Amino acid sequence: MPNMSLKKNPMPAQEPAVRAHNFDEVALGYTPEQAMDEAARCLNCKNKPCVAGCPVAIDIPAFIGKVKEGDFAAAYEILSRSTSLPAVCGRVCPQETQCESKCVRGIKGEPVAIGRLERFVADWHMHNAQEKPARPTPNGHKAAVIGAGPAGLTCAGDLARKGYDVTIFEALHTAGGALVYGIPEFRLPKAIVEKEIDTLRDLGVKVETNMVIGKVLSVDELFDMGFESVFIGSGAGLPRFMNIPGENLKGVYSANEFLTRVNLMKAFRKDNPTPVKDVRRVAVVGGGNVAMDAARCSKRLGADVYIVYRRGMEELPARHEEVEHAEEEGIIFKTLTNPVKINGNENGYVASMTCVEMELGEPDASGRRRPIEKVGSDFDLPVDCVIMSLGTTPNPLIKNTTPGLEVNRKGGIVVNEEGLTSHASVYAGGDAVTGAATVILAMGAGKLGAKSIDEQLSKK
Ligand code: FAD
Ligand code: SF4
Repeated sequence: MPNMSLKKNPMPAQEPAVRAHNFDEVALGYTPEQAMDEAARCLNCKNKPCVAGCPVAIDIPAFIGKVKEGDFAAAYEILSRSTSLPAVCGRVCPQETQCESKCVRGIKGEPVAIGRLERFVADWHMHNAQEKPARPTPNGHKAAVIGAGPAGLTCAGDLARKGYDVTIFEALHTAGGALVYGIPEFRLPKAIVEKEIDTLRDLGVKVETNMVIGKVLSVDELFDMGFESVFIGSGAGLPRFMNIPGENLKGVYSANEFLTRVNLMKAFRKDNPTPVKDVRRVAVVGGGNVAMDAARCSKRLGADVYIVYRRGMEELPARHEEVEHAEEEGIIFKTLTNPVKINGNENGYVASMTCVEMELGEPDASGRRRPIEKVGSDFDLPVDCVIMSLGTTPNPLIKNTTPGLEVNRKGGIVVNEEGLTSHASVYAGGDAVTGAATVILAMGAGKLGAKSIDEQLSKK
């Protein structure tokens, strides 16, 4: 008999008052008993609507069925057929708009907690797996991957499993992409990403860090070195600004710079050589997931934090769960508010931000109601740090150094349905193609790139 409870098993989590002062993971994960009880909510539907909602088509009812039986090793085996980063996806995928949005249990009550179960199985495997994966037999072909984010890592893993000699060239000193420089420790511990990357290394994938392609080597030079195909997964790391007065004052950061300093460089440690200024009152401008991450990091650095967003609470693009967590931790939402100027003190540091109040008019091209400025509503918000979280675009460096590589007007690399770019034997995927998107979509693109490279090179 299935468990007919209308609610998901709640996720054990740190108390808001405690977690607002530490960088430890907020969600603590299911126990085996909770996981098996949650798995018993699955009806094992014949037509598996949840699978169609998963961008990498995990056989969801099959892995959940094994969790229900308590056979976690078999559940992991099913997961690993479709995803190389299950511990990551179980934590950060927007399941509410993907697999869980299609789950029939969601019609009357809450859907099965598919993401929490995926995380449980991946964590169980990390703690219990003894054996390293066997090294595949080499097939004699060499492929290069640019960027060690989810797109590049997935492409590299899939190629290595087919026997390719794969090298990833990564600009930063650490592999992981936005999983390590962007998403904070308290949502995705770095040790989890490292373990997933170690699994790829065990398969034979080589990772060359501090290698900015377009500066140290060009794409064409990779071919001169004997690589037969190249996959570009260089992400979308170039931040947007508002172009308002005062954005060059000390204490104004892009969200990416701020998060890189805090997450990757551990700026919260006093002995760290890459600090962030001591912050007391922070304004984060924007309403997406990245804005929530920047706000929650600032809170953990001890600041009073405002989210400044020009539309209302209803229109916030961030995941509902992230907004809820931010509110619980005491972040103040100044919605229907738009900055027009950042004001500095005599030393060139941020002292306040002038904002105007907004109201919502008719829907615009995006379908959301257009924010309109209320005349004469200017006010000063006293802050000593402003974090701009207005989205990012792909960095033009690779495009500018690769003759014949076509990009669209937003800077995304143009690819065909096989992930092939306008340059022979160069494939691309993830945020470098789509602009800022999600981990699982980047992984799906990495999978497609690996499949197409294999189809090309296996004919040689
Ligand atoms: P990236 O992860 O950006 O990786 C690209 C890699 O390429 C980087 O390591 C970069 O250093 C490297 N690189 C760039 N240029 C070069 C070069 N010239 N040479 C060599 N290497 C280069 N998605 C979710 O699904 N859920 C979330 O909760 C979520 N939260 C997020 C929070 C933040 C703060 C951020 C920034 C993103 C978040 N995302 C989330 C989005 C998600 O992380 C990205 O969509 C995903 O990481 C894109 O993967 P990618 O491999 O295409 O690019
Ligand atoms: Fe199980 Fe929901 Fe998928 Fe049906 S839709 S198989 S109940 S997870």
